[in-house]
Amino acid sequence: MIAPSLLGLDRSELARICGELGEPPYRAGQLAAWLYRRGARDVAGMTDLPAAFRERLAAAWQVGRSRVAADQRAADGTRKLLLELADRARVETVLLPYDERVSLCISSQTGCAVGCTFCATGSLGAGRNLSAGELTDQLLTAPEVAGERVSNVVFMGMGEPLLNLEAVIAAIRLWRDEVAFSPRHVTISTVGIPARIGELAAAELPVTLAVSLHAGDDELRASLVPTTRWSVAQVVAAARGYQQRTGRRVTYEVVLLRGVNDEPSHAFALAHRLKRGEHVNLIPYNPVPRAPYERPEPARVAAFRRVLEARGLTVTQRQTRGDDIAGACGQLRAGLAEAASRPAPSPAGREPG
Ligand code: SF4
Repeated sequence: MIAPSLLGLDRSELARICGELGEPPYRAGQLAAWLYRRGARDVAGMTDLPAAFRERLAAAWQVGRSRVAADQRAADGTRKLLLELADRARVETVLLPYDERVSLCISSQTGCAVGCTFCATGSLGAGRNLSAGELTDQLLTAPEVAGERVSNVVFMGMGEPLLNLEAVIAAIRLWRDEVAFSPRHVTISTVGIPARIGELAAAELPVTLAVSLHAGDDELRASLVPTTRWSVAQVVAAARGYQQRTGRRVTYEVVLLRGVNDEPSHAFALAHRLKRGEHVNLIPYNPVPRAPYERPEPARVAAFRRVLEARGLTVTQRQTRGDDIAGACGQLRAGLAEAASRPAPSPAGREPG
């Protein structure tokens, strides 16, 4: 049986454990420092704790750090880690260095039940939720491995974070309280589950919300995000509610697939759903072998953008990153899984959503 993990527990939970093991409450502060700031990987290494306490603690608990199972670097500096968790499940976490900051794209689940047709993680099927500790492990492990300070975190890796909302909220609170990592530097990317967007707003964490729309037309969107039960209007209404309640700007994301959702008519349909001043981020699809989609040429992307801008929308465009290391989230794990099961590996990976 796998021992439960200390990583992910907050100060009060650590104090309770210390109390159960006959230690004073201040030990919780020492434990938290080892777990969240001093990079402890095992209880034995927490050298300022009494040896007898360490023994009792290690008999029932483990720290809960992952093992780096693969580490790929792209020519543009993108670094993708495949982390093996205590139960041998594997998730990706990706460091994206920009000129003045380093973004960390983290996974919230070991697969994804949403099943977006252009996504490598979706092709893996549903996985389990990651715990607050496993989310925190990604925030700690990536900078340790890369020697880089992370300036912002995006929940844009494997999984739909709003399907694992309890752990996501617990992790963000823990980062704020123990790692001194502000929720203001966290973005949650979702396909848009209206009730969960409301719950996230109620958590009163100033995180940025990114909603993957991909199309303004319900039918086209449903063909790309087949499990969605909500109309574009319902998703946009929930996103606006989030913005109103939190004061945080919402970004609407569109993965552009050549000939599928990148025509000017698609841009008009999208613009029709949004209001002047709202923000759209365009993501030209990151193509991979055997995938049924292609990246649009820059001229098509520019034409799409012009339509949106003419309607008063604020438009940004995400650069595709890490093309030479299967840059879209889920591709590394999908690729390794496929390599293990087939003689000729070729991941059917897609874009993060
Ligand atoms: S794009 Fe996101 S929500 Fe869609 S299948 Fe992939 S991980 Fe899940």
